Amino acid sequence: MAAEASPGVSFLAGGGEMGALMRRHDWASTLLGPPESWPQSLRTTVSTCLNCAFPILVWWGPDLVKIYNDAYCPVLGRKHPNALGRAGREVWPEIWDVIGPMLDTVMTQGEPTRAQDLLLPIERHGYAEECYFSFSYSPIHDESGAVGGVFCPVVETTDRVIGERRLRLLGNLAQCAAGPDGPEAFARAAMGCMADGGLRDFFFAALYLQDSSTPLRPVATAGIPVDAAPDLCDGSRWFVDEVMCSGEPRCLDNVPARFPLPLNGAWDHPPKRALVLPLDAGTGRPLGALVVGLSPHRPQEELRDFAGLTAGQIASGLTKARAYEEERRRAEALAELDHAKTVFFSNVSHEFRTPLTLMLGPVEEILARPEADLAADIRQSLDLVHRSTLRLQKLVDSMLDFSRIEAGRMAAAFVPTDIGGFTAELASSYQSMTERAGLRLTITCDTLPAPAYLDRDMWEKVVFNLLSNAFKFTLEGEIRVTTALSADGRAAEVTVADTGIGIPADALPRLFERFYRVQETRGRSFEGSGIGLAMVRELVQLQGGTIRVTSVPGEGSTFVVSIPLGSDHLPASGIVAESQEVRSGRRADMYLSEAERWLPAETDAEPPEGEPAPAAHLPESRAAAADTAIMGRILVADDNTDMRGYIERLLSNAGFDVQAVANGQAALD
Ligand code: ADP
Repeated sequence: MAAEASPGVSFLAGGGEMGALMRRHDWASTLLGPPESWPQSLRTTVSTCLNCAFPILVWWGPDLVKIYNDAYCPVLGRKHPNALGRAGREVWPEIWDVIGPMLDTVMTQGEPTRAQDLLLPIERHGYAEECYFSFSYSPIHDESGAVGGVFCPVVETTDRVIGERRLRLLGNLAQCAAGPDGPEAFARAAMGCMADGGLRDFFFAALYLQDSSTPLRPVATAGIPVDAAPDLCDGSRWFVDEVMCSGEPRCLDNVPARFPLPLNGAWDHPPKRALVLPLDAGTGRPLGALVVGLSPHRPQEELRDFAGLTAGQIASGLTKARAYEEERRRAEALAELDHAKTVFFSNVSHEFRTPLTLMLGPVEEILARPEADLAADIRQSLDLVHRSTLRLQKLVDSMLDFSRIEAGRMAAAFVPTDIGGFTAELASSYQSMTERAGLRLTITCDTLPAPAYLDRDMWEKVVFNLLSNAFKFTLEGEIRVTTALSADGRAAEVTVADTGIGIPADALPRLFERFYRVQETRGRSFEGSGIGLAMVRELVQLQGGTIRVTSVPGEGSTFVVSIPLGSDHLPASGIVAESQEVRSGRRADMYLSEAERWLPAETDAEPPEGEPAPAAHLPESRAAAADTAIMGRILVADDNTDMRGYIERLLSNAGFDVQAVANGQAALD
């Protein structure tokens, strides 16, 4: 209900506390004179102002006398109620240099004006407070048509502006921590964020780090140069030891007297107070300390809270940065180790290769002698030496290839090749081996419209590795080798598919990783080092191609190598017109002689599966006795036909009656 007003000043009715104050006010002694004398335009404006729920301020007359409503009172702070009826310049001397000219423009030109989030450091609570306002100034025309005053709706936006700024800083600090650099780089980035934030809350900031061997040292600053950061080692002046031990921040007064501050931030006067905060990640002794100069223009309690949040964010960034650094160091150490390993393998492989070649030569020479010139048992032993040496050579070659690839020294010589014809030629070397194992080998290799540029040596390894695996893991059925044009006609797709044991789905993504082997798999042999497919992928990539695999356990696996046709994708320097190399067939020998050992000895019967069957080459009576007269068993860890044959011979020579040597076990009598 509207409060009463004397008859001549009914426009002052209502208006809450300010209405009452207006009615009580001694207007006669003000520049405006008694309300009864006020022009109608002022009366109407004042009535609107008093009865508005939004903060409204009216400036009137040449002295811009202030009249305002209840909602505006908080803007004035301690200046209320004295501000009522006083000239604007007297009420706001601290910001008159900003708003005076704006008001002047409205009064003299009659043009409205507005401001958005304008910084006005008003002294409503006894200190220059950082405050922001959005307002508009509109002219109020009096009865003569001239501008008699200014109508000003106003919103204080201090909380929003400062809140957003602080959130931005905390967000930016969090983002810095996502970078993969170490603590010092993070410290510099963090101080960069603070400097970019305008240094309004904290006039300066200095970040100190310490580790087990060094005391606190300034690493980065904002608002002052790094070499002007206070020397915290002077613990008595900075209470650093206390802060680091207690984990509690410490406020310091009288900062300018403690050390000179060549400020380069938003304010030109030094802060009176500073806060020393521990950078505590909750992991024992703090990682360092943060010193911030507190702005005297915001409530100190509020700033201390925000400084705590800032220090918390920086501490968690530092923890992450340390973890990154640790990780990087570990990765570097691993890379170094890896490099050392590569060099070691490379050297060792070279060292192995020469004696292996020197062993192979004479052995092959002797084996090439006519049948009659060599006793059967010696030939048998030399065959074993020969096959094992070839196997070793194949492994050593793979290690050498890996070392070369890792060192970037695997130079390819690309030769235009009929990929279908060449692949068919390589695959056909497995024909008799697959037949002996009771498998079908189907080769369907079309000649494609354009040549593929292959490094023939690399391609041999690719095809032989895939075929060797298909053979090893296919106990019955078929191996198919096909070449065809890709769907887009730009690449040759070479497929090696088998009807073997297949590969579990969870193993497929890791299949081409070095040293990866599928656990508990069953094939013709347990041998393997897990480097074959990794090597295949590297070699395919070196030739500009890709490899993929699909597989269904129990049904088989399909490996598809895609090689672009033509040479556009290759460096011109790697292309050669024709391979000068005369193919020796040695590589096919290596793979085939290894595969040979996976076949049951002296038979092309079924591959070993299930229960240890009596070996076919043992006399039936002995084999039958194997189950009953077992006196002991030897578990053959490196199980293959050669090893079994070797053990059998060794045991027989030692006088044992060997009952059965099959499937990884030798049963002795
Ligand atoms: P290795 O044969 O020396 O173990 P590879 O890198 O050639 O190493 O093969 C890795 C693993 O992938 C093999 O141990 C085997 O488990 C699986 N694998 C490869 N090819 C086939 C295949 N054709 N059928 C089933 N499993 C296969």
